[in-house]
Amino acid sequence: MKDNYDVIVIGAGPAGYAAAIRCAQLGMETACIDKSLGTDGKPVLGGTCLNWGCIPSKALLDASHKFAEAQHGFADIGIKVGKVAIDVPKMMERKDKVVAGLTGGIKGLFKGNGVDALYGSGKLLSGCEVEFTDHDGKVTKLQAEHVILAPGSVPVEIPPTPLTDDLIVDSTGALEFSSVPKRVGVIGAGVIGLELGSVWNRLGSEVVILEALDEFLPMADERIARDALKSMEKQGLDIRLGTRVTAAEVSGKTVNVTYQTKDGDESLTVDKLIVAVGRRPFTEGLLAPDSGVNLDERGYLYVNDLCATDASNVYAVGDVVRGPMLAHKGTEEGVMVAERIAGHKPLVNYDCVPSVIYTHPEIAWVGKTEQELKSSNDAYKVGAFPFAANGRALAGNEAEGSVKIIADAETDRILGVHVFGPQASEMVAQAVIAMEFDASAEDLGLTMFAHPTLSEAVHEAALGVAGHAIHMVNRKPKK
Ligand code: FAD
Ligand code: NAD
Repeated sequence: MKDNYDVIVIGAGPAGYAAAIRCAQLGMETACIDKSLGTDGKPVLGGTCLNWGCIPSKALLDASHKFAEAQHGFADIGIKVGKVAIDVPKMMERKDKVVAGLTGGIKGLFKGNGVDALYGSGKLLSGCEVEFTDHDGKVTKLQAEHVILAPGSVPVEIPPTPLTDDLIVDSTGALEFSSVPKRVGVIGAGVIGLELGSVWNRLGSEVVILEALDEFLPMADERIARDALKSMEKQGLDIRLGTRVTAAEVSGKTVNVTYQTKDGDESLTVDKLIVAVGRRPFTEGLLAPDSGVNLDERGYLYVNDLCATDASNVYAVGDVVRGPMLAHKGTEEGVMVAERIAGHKPLVNYDCVPSVIYTHPEIAWVGKTEQELKSSNDAYKVGAFPFAANGRALAGNEAEGSVKIIADAETDRILGVHVFGPQASEMVAQAVIAMEFDASAEDLGLTMFAHPTLSEAVHEAALGVAGHAIHMVNRKPKK
């Protein structure tokens, strides 16, 4: 550790570590401070995403999907298997191994790029000075030319459901169950509720999801959300919309949850309760009173479009600033800030941030939803194509869902792409590229796609915008 750096980054999640690596690549002397400890008590890099978020949840989603396929899907395609059994400790061990490999990978990337990893807490003082406290409590003052704050977010807690050691848990606890609970309650039918609810439902738990809103996935396109709700319910998720949890009481090894619906009070007994009602920016201990950095009214670090805070040469990126709490959004911000410090002029295109919910089928989108365009009175046209008419989806026994493309009525510029279907997360990337290059639906329609692929559904939906998809009968425009 030196006492003077060109750049000090606080937080080594996907926003902070990407910023640190890019700064070092651009020739800046860089340190990255992170306070996270793994389950073995040793320092870990990678933040929420690698340790308690994207990666472990996807390891369990993939494993549980394979289990569900072996149980219910293989027979449909002519594969007979004997009794399929689940080995939860082994599944968890593999998840932990994937996590360890990736967090160790960040350590290697820091070393390879010359980033100093400093394990402990960072606090921003005034004038780009940083107070670093290591895990033994030793305090060192470090000076930097520029500071990038990337402290991330933590789960929101709500008064009716205080967390316990292992019965009422947040998303982190829900990634650690040592056996399959008989009954799981989930509060919140958002991204985490659906993903982790799906994991335990596939592994055999009875899962009830209590959601305060009357509407399911209001941020997704209405039609996609409607199809996804039907599909999730068919898979066995009991999703109760318009329910407000009022209390959760632990009784022995179970939890009694009381909630209100429009018809009155109801209750539910579960073996595990997962609280997944959102995340909040984490800024505890981050800022000295005279740091010059301000918070907005919702507790996020206040930044402009270029992620600059109110303090000179101090930037903030990732979950701790406005915008969607997504790993890739933070990474793009971190890289943009590093490049701007080096004098380049990139921008983050906030209109092109893809969202994915890793259920099965997956839900993915980028850009505007139809309901958004309706409410802003923008004129648009729509093309949609069902996977039920896509050869590859049928061949793979994955023909549920559709692709929907929305384009400007006059210019034909693509405004939004919404996919509910197999590998939607991969397919939406094509839409992001098209939108980054300001493509029209016609441009996509004139592009050649390999056959047979799931992506042909994107092609057909683009052709459908102009009313000439080939593999379905197009609706005649109203006269
Ligand atoms: P974080 O990843 O939260 O990292 C911040 C780091 O800073 C942490 O290690 C923290 O300990 C450290 N820190 C904080 N304060 C200090 C301090 N003062 N000093 C030193 N260190 C400090 N997003 C996706 O895009 N795709 C997904 O599939 C996805 N799945 C998810 C699944 C789950 C269960 C959860 C919980 C989240 C998921 N997310 C997903 C969200 C994603 O994890 C976050 O958007 C992302 O991690 C945010 O990155 P970040 O760098 O801003 O912060
Ligand atoms: P979320 O905002 O996606 O969903 C929270 C849900 O809880 C909402 O539907 C909300 O209406 C509901 N809710 C809030 N208070 C409630 C209450 N008292 N009772 C019942 N329902 C209530 O938040 P999340 O699922 O916790 O995820 C947090 C963040 O992590 C999200 O911003 C998300 O972007 C990110 N994340 C992303 C992914 C992914 O990209 N695949 C996966 C997991 C998490």
